[in-house]
Amino acid sequence: MSLSNWERAFGLVGLRVEKIAFEEGLALVKASPIAASAACPLCGKRSSQVRSRYQSCLADLPAHGRRVRIFVAARRFRCRDQDCRRRIFAERLSPDAARVWGRRTTRLDGIVHHIGFALGGRPGQAITRRLLLPVSKDTLLRTVRRRVPVSLARPRVIGVDDWALRKGHRYGTRICDLERRMVIDLLPDREPATLKRWLADHPGIEIIARDRGGGYAKAAAQACPDAEQVADRWHLMENSSAAFLMAVKRWMRSIRAAFGQAMPDQATLTTAERLQHEGWKRRKAEEDTIRVLNAEGIGIKEIVRRTGRSRKLVREVVRGGHTDPFRPRASSLEPWLDRLQTEWEAGCQNGAELWPRLRAAGFPGSLRVVAEWATRRRRDDRDASPSRYPAPRTLARLLSSARGKLTRNESIIVAIAERAAPVLVTARGIVDDSQDLIRKHQAEGLAAWLERALSSPVASFAKGIEADYAAVTAAITSPWSNGQTEGTICRLESLKRQMYGRANIDLLRARLMPIAA
Ligand SMILES: [Zn+2]
Repeated sequence: MSLSNWERAFGLVGLRVEKIAFEEGLALVKASPIAASAACPLCGKRSSQVRSRYQSCLADLPAHGRRVRIFVAARRFRCRDQDCRRRIFAERLSPDAARVWGRRTTRLDGIVHHIGFALGGRPGQAITRRLLLPVSKDTLLRTVRRRVPVSLARPRVIGVDDWALRKGHRYGTRICDLERRMVIDLLPDREPATLKRWLADHPGIEIIARDRGGGYAKAAAQACPDAEQVADRWHLMENSSAAFLMAVKRWMRSIRAAFGQAMPDQATLTTAERLQHEGWKRRKAEEDTIRVLNAEGIGIKEIVRRTGRSRKLVREVVRGGHTDPFRPRASSLEPWLDRLQTEWEAGCQNGAELWPRLRAAGFPGSLRVVAEWATRRRRDDRDASPSRYPAPRTLARLLSSARGKLTRNESIIVAIAERAAPVLVTARGIVDDSQDLIRKHQAEGLAAWLERALSSPVASFAKGIEADYAAVTAAITSPWSNGQTEGTICRLESLKRQMYGRANIDLLRARLMPIAA
């Protein structure tokens, strides 16, 4: 690029190039404003009385593989109006050159905004480095935030839902345009008053899908009394499942007891040890049979024929001495199992930690034996074996699964639980029916369902439906639901992640909305 080109480009934004110097990786441009006078920002009167000069530095787009820095020799003027409170003012560059007090040229700022917008903070920073744009990730995010777009078209059908800014800590409200299937706004909290204000600013809304929580319903009723309210189908489904889980939790005591009876002390034995133990019992019985036959005076040859065991074995048992002759070798862990179990339950679940404790108590065996035991033990904990009762959430899922989809172990669990708490079978039936009504759009069945459900273990769920009857009926018949915006909600969550926890709501709004548009 020739000097005259630089001059022309700078001239367009009101600057004159005084000098260009090249340093390692840098182009340093000295420039000064072309105008001889400047307007006072307070009274607007122009002045050409320069009082002092100062230099401001602007980062610009790179040129010829170099970063470009512009040093503008700017001036301070004396205001000529005697009555103006501003005696001295600094001249302002043309908005085409840079923002007031900005540290980047307007054209650099524009590019930074687009990159921050498309990529977010940290990934954007990686790219800007390669493009020789001198901006940090904070700058990227700030630039995006500064340019929040104003609202789009007027929505007619909206979905309102709460949404975790930080799960378990901060919740906001998400508003979706259900017709256009996108998130259109984010509110900083889930207070009814905040939603009410938003609704007041957005006239023309005819249908509002919201969850069954009272707050949103109240705000919607007050702000747009003419709008139809629809209980959100997705929430209804979720609430019905939650109600079933509550019922399972209430019955957990009986279920736990049933599991305890079904397998008394086996819960404390690992599967491998249980098998060993059973084998040992079987062999002990055979051994006893041999002894009894021998005591009755039956010869070794005949005992071999009757029991099917080898001659050598029978002879050994008859001669006595052995308690468990069939067992290849006894585990050195055998006398320590109780102790291991106690340590395990106290939280020490690692071979390398268990071994020294056993050693200190006199255990003669090696680390390997203990480590292998710990591995087996862990595997047993992982495999949901019927010897331990499942967590309520798991149990609720199993109880709601189709029979054909359960493993053998799971079927046993379900059978034990259902025998212990038959009322859960009823509860599940009622929950299933409610989900059927919703799925098949059968509003006419709602009244009969309600009557049945109000005296069932999921009565509290039914009471909630009774209290919100009109909106629930609308939910069954209406085609609108927040589930339709699943796609943009995923998009929102991924944006939130990209922002690495710096996800301020205005920033998320800024990045969300033009994407939706
Ligand atoms: Zn003035």
